[in-house]
Amino acid sequence: QRPNSLHAADIAYTMHPYTNMRLHEEKGPMIMSHGDGAKVYDTEGKEYYEALAGLWSVAVGFSENRLADVAYEQLKKLPYYHTFAHKSHEPSIRLAEKLVEMTPEGLNKVFFTNSGSEANDTVVKMVWFLNNGLGRPEKKKFLSRNKAYHGITIASGSLTGLPANQKDFDLPAIPVTHLTTPHYWKFAEEGETEEQFTARLLKELEDTILAEGPETIGAFIGEPVMGAGGVMVPPEGYWPGVAEICKKYDILLVADEVINGFGRTGKPFGCERFGFTPDILVTSKQLTSSYMPLAAIVVNDKVYDAIADNTAKLGTFGHGFTGSGHPVACAVGLENLKIIEEKDLMGNAERLEPMFQDGLRKFADHPLVGEVRGVGLIAGVELAKNRDTREAFEPAGSMAAKVVALCAEEGLIVRNVYETVAFCPPLIVTEDDLTEILARFGRALDRALDWAKSEGMV
Ligand code: PLP
Repeated sequence: QRPNSLHAADIAYTMHPYTNMRLHEEKGPMIMSHGDGAKVYDTEGKEYYEALAGLWSVAVGFSENRLADVAYEQLKKLPYYHTFAHKSHEPSIRLAEKLVEMTPEGLNKVFFTNSGSEANDTVVKMVWFLNNGLGRPEKKKFLSRNKAYHGITIASGSLTGLPANQKDFDLPAIPVTHLTTPHYWKFAEEGETEEQFTARLLKELEDTILAEGPETIGAFIGEPVMGAGGVMVPPEGYWPGVAEICKKYDILLVADEVINGFGRTGKPFGCERFGFTPDILVTSKQLTSSYMPLAAIVVNDKVYDAIADNTAKLGTFGHGFTGSGHPVACAVGLENLKIIEEKDLMGNAERLEPMFQDGLRKFADHPLVGEVRGVGLIAGVELAKNRDTREAFEPAGSMAAKVVALCAEEGLIVRNVYETVAFCPPLIVTEDDLTEILARFGRALDRALDWAKSEGMV
């Protein structure tokens, strides 16, 4: 007997990512039906503001028909072709050209993958391949940070610095050293100023390089603003300092802009907001507004030339995906970037930053809140039992999960990442949308406080 409702069929047939599957068997799914601008609707007809833009990605909102039209036209014209071994097609060429134009000066060549995880795995292989080609095969280690999120495949999941992505997966499986998270509120020592905190982290970086040997370290990877680990905004001076140290020891600098890219931080790219230029820049998510899966790695001439020289020696770059530069995904990506430019959505994020960030900071004194942080249209509200000692609620993450569940009841989708409630609304939001998002969040937070009081938690 087949289940006769979508709800029951989901439980019967689907294994969900990032899910407690036994709990899912009891609770079942929230099934989405359709979208409209910054909102989505479930199959019961309930409306939600999607204030995480899906998975930090739907820049143009959930009803952009221009992307549907472009996908349909491309599917009729050339639905698929690959880009292996000198083959090419117009959508991938035009999108690569556009990415070189939009990314910071010096980043000149593009390699496409289907996902951010594949892109970061590709970066690992690029760094290994080029250093092998340069005759320094020992220069292979990566430096990353605790709480980093770079994906979940074997190599990218090794770069990720979150226990949930590593425990019982036997990761890390490649040589990687995780450094201190650049999050002042959480990790500053007693009495340490922000400047001293930055200096300590930069010293940790340099000491680590010297202890392990610069000749063994291939690259440093980081998200300009850390996203899925809890939205951490780096302290002043951190990124220029990291860039300087990497340069000093001939270590490639990789900016993982999978969430930050295309205006999220109030500048086109996070590296521009925080004052550094990477050797390799990784983008995905807002690249297509996630209407199609696609990621792109943009590299500078130094990286390209070292890789290209080795391909000339070996006869090939033995790496690539069936979907690398998929024509439908690239056509959608190009149209999506045109929409972002025509509607000045990156400018919108910059203009709305004060209203959104100040609006959220009004919750900084709420009894459940430890810290409010963010830039542009990305923010995190970290909950804490005690703001001064930074003591978290027990069990870990439970209060953020409660607030997020109450937000959903109020018609607001946000995401709990550990102790933090994350916000990342579509770039098309208006002031009115943000006012409503803030109001719904405020109501959920107050309801959570009532609940916490009734449970004797505060
Ligand atoms: N890098 C960053 C910064 C991300 O936030 C993510 C996904 O959230 C990834 C990489 C992995 O991307 P994907 O989920 O497309 O594999």
